[in-house]
Parts: sequence; C-alpha cells; structure tokens
Amino acid sequence: MRPFVVAIIGSGPSGIYAAEALCQQSDVAVSVAVLDRLPVPFGLVRYGVAPDHPSIRSIRNTLERTLSRPEVRFYGDVTVGRDVTIDELRGSVDAVIYAYGAASDRRLDIPGEDLDGSIAAAELVAWYCGHPDVHPDLESPAITGPEPAGIDAEQASRLVASTRSAVVVGVGNVALDVVRILIRPTADLARTDMAEEVLTALDDRAVTDVHVLGRRGPANTSFTTKELRELGDLDGVDIVIDPFDHAIDPATIGKVAARNLAVLSGWAERSDGTAARRIHFHFWTRPVRLAGEGRVASVITERTMIDSTGRLLSAGPGPELPADLVVRSVGYRGTALPGVPYDPEIARVPHAEGRVIRDGSFATGEYVTGWIKRGPTGVIGTNKSDAVETVTSLLTDIADGELVADHDRDDLDRLLADRGIHPLGMPAWRLIDAAEIERGHRQGRDRATLAHRSDLLAAAADPDPDPPD
Ligand code: NAP
Repeated sequence: MRPFVVAIIGSGPSGIYAAEALCQQSDVAVSVAVLDRLPVPFGLVRYGVAPDHPSIRSIRNTLERTLSRPEVRFYGDVTVGRDVTIDELRGSVDAVIYAYGAASDRRLDIPGEDLDGSIAAAELVAWYCGHPDVHPDLESPAITGPEPAGIDAEQASRLVASTRSAVVVGVGNVALDVVRILIRPTADLARTDMAEEVLTALDDRAVTDVHVLGRRGPANTSFTTKELRELGDLDGVDIVIDPFDHAIDPATIGKVAARNLAVLSGWAERSDGTAARRIHFHFWTRPVRLAGEGRVASVITERTMIDSTGRLLSAGPGPELPADLVVRSVGYRGTALPGVPYDPEIARVPHAEGRVIRDGSFATGEYVTGWIKRGPTGVIGTNKSDAVETVTSLLTDIADGELVADHDRDDLDRLLADRGIHPLGMPAWRLIDAAEIERGHRQGRDRATLAHRSDLLAAAADPDPDPPD
C-alpha cells in the first residue's frame, strides 16, 4: 500500500514526537519528512535547554533515534515560507503538521524597555546555547530566521562581560536558567558543551548580584521544584529573599507551588548575603521603568498586591535596583509563518484537537502540535501527549476517508531540487555531531557546540571530522 506522506515543520521535541507517534502506530504505512530551517535538528533541546542541564539535553539521543528510522527523513536548512511556500509544500505531501514552536518573546511594555542592556531571555538563551541566529557569520551577517534575534553574539558578550548587577523579570524555569548561567562559577560552565566564544565571554564576567522579580508572591511561582533547589547548590552564591508573609496555608495552593514555597522559606530563614555573589528574590514587585542614559542603569519597581477579584494592583513604590543588564523572562510568544493560519490574540495556530482551523473551517490535511498549538507551557515531555492527540486526529481523518494518500515520498525531494535547495539530512548531522564531540574531547569535555552556520556547514561537508580551530 502507498505510504501516507506527512511533512512536519520543525524538528524540536514537538515535531519529532509527532514523527514518533506516526511511526509507532500500525494502522497506516507512513513516510515522514521533518523539515527545519536550521542545519541541525532538535530545536529547543539543543537551543533552549541550558547547557548545564546535560541530562535534559540528552533527550536528544531519543529524538535522534526517531529521526534515524527508515520511515523518517530529516530535511535541515530548509526554510518553509522562503525556500518553499506552504501551498507548495502542501501540494507535494498528503498532510502537514506545524511544529515550529514559539520563537519570540513577550514584552513588558514599560518605558526604557528598549535601552541597551535590556534584552529578552530568549535572546540570552539563544546566545549561550550557540544559536546561529545570534552567532552570525562574518561573511553573511544577515540574520536568517523568520523572527530576527535582537542581539548578536558580540553585543551579548559585551553586555555580559560588563555586568555587575543584573535584574531578571519573571519567576519561571527560563528565569532560573538565566540566573544560573549568569551567576554560576566559570569552572562549572567550562564542563558544559557551550561554544568557546560564549565560555570566553562568561569567563570575563564580573556579575556579583542577580535580582529576580516576581510580580506575585512566593506561593505563585512557575518553577519546578527540582530546578529551584539547584540554585541553593551553587558554590559561593548566597540567596537573599525579601521578608515575606510565611503564613500561607499550603492547602490553598497547588502541590508544586507549596514545595517551591517551602524551599524559598528555608532560604529566607538562613541566608545572610555575605558570599561574593548573591541571588536576590523580590516578590510582590514589578518593574515600572528602566532608567539609564543610553544603557540601562537601574530598574524602578513598585510593590504589588492582589485584590479580591485576583487583579494585580500597585501597592506603592518598590526599591530601585541597580542593573547593567535586564533580562525579561516573562514567557515566549509564537509567531506567524507565512501562509499558516495564526491568531495574533493568542499567538498560536487556531485548531481543535490538533486539526488546524483555516477561515473558520477545518483545513484538510493541516495539523499543529507543540508550543505553536498550546502556547509556551509545559516541560519537554508534555509535547509527547500533545503530539499523540494531533496524530490521533490525523489518523482518524485517514480512517474516515477525509484524507487519502496521493503523493510519493520523492515529490518533496523533486520540489526542493527544482528550487535549488539542498537539504542537510541525518548523515550531515552525524558529521556535525562527530565534529562537536571531537572538538570537545580536545578541550577535555564531552562536546563543544559549533555556533556559526558556516562551521556547521563545513563540518557537515567534511568526511574527516576535524573542524578548524
Ligand atoms: P513561564 O513558566 O510561563 O513563566 C513566566 C513568568 O513570567 C511567570 O512568573 C509570570 O508571572 C511572569 N510574567 C509574565 N508576564 C509578566 C509581566 N508583564 N511582568 C512580570 N512578570 C511577568 O515561562 P518560562 O519561564 O518562559 O518557561 C516556558 C516553559 O518552558 C515553561 O513551561 C517551563 O516550565 C518550561 N521550561 C522548563 C525547563 C526545565 O524543566 N528545566 C527549563 C526552561 C523552561 P505570573 O505567573 O504572575 O503571570
């Protein structure tokens, strides 16, 4: 029987879990094409998970096994919306699944937000993970992504190297990653797979204080407790917490929030702030203005409270916090891909159970999964059940005769060849992988990330993985 051809846009965990769900069922023979605008797969597992979290990053091995299955092909370095349109892609496969994530960031919408030194967590994360958008090539400095990154590696290095006091706005897991990377001793980071130029910039750091702002209370954090506890294990770092009302009944909040509250309360009791470096938590505090001449110098804050309807209100002026760097870590935001339905109100692709809604009706053969489907929430594993829901809808539509197999798996290859596009497949990834491992071993670590597109392409073309220093 002719296999049903599915193209998945995005090779992060959401896209690869969708490929896995398609391969693991036996009702329909499938052929799966996973496309990514980057030369390498794995999306946020490579470019979002913090480098000092190697066990989470090792999910890459599971994802790689799926991409290596005979029914699956990886098409790296193909930008849908630029190299091929959505309509052309839809015309060459039987169904598409959008899994392109949420690459942009939410803003604070306060005065001074665009001062030099004020950046989105998404930008800093992309920098320290070695994302090619933030590490452009000298010969082609233009940023290639659909949503240009606001800073480049030079700016990020300059900002980090010249920061003594940083303010991180938001109390979610991304904020924790940013705080750790900013304050953690270089010796710890030198063991990770960070690109050398990132390590060099971090080595030049003079950061002594990182202030974390939570606009609600210590019982309203979005941290996972394991990640929060990690902050307490950092060498030479004290945690200082503004006095807060401990009389919160854990029964009135969720389990995770109660565990986080217990960790924060423990720190509040024992911290004295005498270590050389400090993390300060300020709850019931939000920024109202970033102040500075040209570059940010401080954050003007206000205290907050919640009224009986749950609305956040001002409760008077808060402290003015010194800041050479302000990182807003208030959530990611999905963006529009040309030709794909998009609801700007919620920054997602409209859908029901993963079936895309186009002009008010279900769009035949179009599905969505991951952050661009449900918003930027959940841990990596959340994408698995999300992908299963979407793939179940797709398989139901095949069983109901709504979708029929009408294409060969080579139709997409012909389309790309006609456009002069030469995708990088898994053999190219294996060469890049080997080059990064080899480079890392030479430096006494497991891997050194190649941050520049030109280095990735050179490694992909080199049968003898030994990239230039
Ligand atoms: P998040 O968990 O949604 O946290 C966003 C934080 O920003 C919340 O504390 C929120 O406070 C705050 N916020 C939103 N708007 C604000 C504003 N205007 N002013 C001040 N604060 C504001 O988002 P995230 O940290 O970006 O993480 C995204 C997802 O990735 C999460 O599901 C996270 O768990 C996951 N992730 C997991 C890991 C890991 O497991 N190690 C690592 C990184 C990310 P309110 O609650 O008051 O809105």
